Amino acid sequence: MNRQTKQARIDEYRRLCREQGLPLTEQRMVVLDVVLDLDDHPTADQVLEAVARRDPGVSRATVYRALESLARVGVITKACHPGKAVRYDSRTETHHHLVCLRCDEVIDITDERLDALPVPDTSALGFEVSDFRVQLRGTCRRCRELEETP
Ligand SMILES: [Zn+2]
Ligand SMILES: [Zn+2]
Repeated sequence: MNRQTKQARIDEYRRLCREQGLPLTEQRMVVLDVVLDLDDHPTADQVLEAVARRDPGVSRATVYRALESLARVGVITKACHPGKAVRYDSRTETHHHLVCLRCDEVIDITDERLDALPVPDTSALGFEVSDFRVQLRGTCRRCRELEETP
């Protein structure tokens, strides 16, 4: 993410916190900064690793809590894949994911036709849809190449 976009996202976070009456903690700022730098749908453990390089005193629980809080505020999103660790996504605008079933790589794609998919009425289930991602599952280029090399 370039410097300007990153600054805009940090400003957006400050604004959201002000609106929602959340205190801006130093630790959440560091975690946000790290997630914005990791463009690759990091897991909480990968974020923890990167945060620990800057500040070795930060605990695992703090990083996990900060990620949950950032996702709740809406400055990052959570990409959930069944049975796998939650991946955090610094992109909040509508986009979709290619998920490699071998190496768990998550690749962003944008496609207007996917964005326009009609969302079914889930009110009978008492469920309110806030957002959706289409997940296309398969094998990434690297894994396919590895497979093809004898
Ligand atoms: Zn792969
Ligand atoms: Zn994504």
